[in-house]
Amino acid sequence: MRGAGTQAGGMSTLQYQAIDAGRLDAMRGQGADEFGNPWQRRTAEGWEPLRCCLRPARAGADIALISYSPWPLPWGTPWAEAGPVFVCHRRCAGYQTPDEYPPGLADRHSQLNPFDHEGSRAYEHITFVAPGEDHAAAVAKVMDQPGVACLHVRSATAQCFTFEVRRA
Ligand SMILES: [Zn+2]
Repeated sequence: MRGAGTQAGGMSTLQYQAIDAGRLDAMRGQGADEFGNPWQRRTAEGWEPLRCCLRPARAGADIALISYSPWPLPWGTPWAEAGPVFVCHRRCAGYQTPDEYPPGLADRHSQLNPFDHEGSRAYEHITFVAPGEDHAAAVAKVMDQPGVACLHVRSATAQCFTFEVRRA
């Protein structure tokens, strides 16, 4: 699933980043997410995008729904939005191929939400990608803009944060 766009034009390597495993372990350890919501086991229906391993959950798997803000702690930015994300209830192996767009999360309506080098949203480069389009190429095109430092991939329908893309 490596898009041709990621290889073109001498662009730097991109890293597709799942939620940090240590940060999730801290939440599991305290029995609550970073906003105080209890860490509760629920049974996956089989579509839920998991932000710890960047794939859809298997039906029947133990998962948790938590509130998460994709900025490092402590939050010191007005851009630190938080929202609901699904993760594995217990620690998983994480995302093993961070140089590839997560293949299980490409066939969906996504919003690429870029940020500039000061951490502000780069509104002029917000991009929507539809199922069937080359998500990796769309990400590479946005990340190739000199004013873009990183981007968040979100669901374009539910608006939930899915994962972050940075230059390696
Ligand atoms: Zn996981």
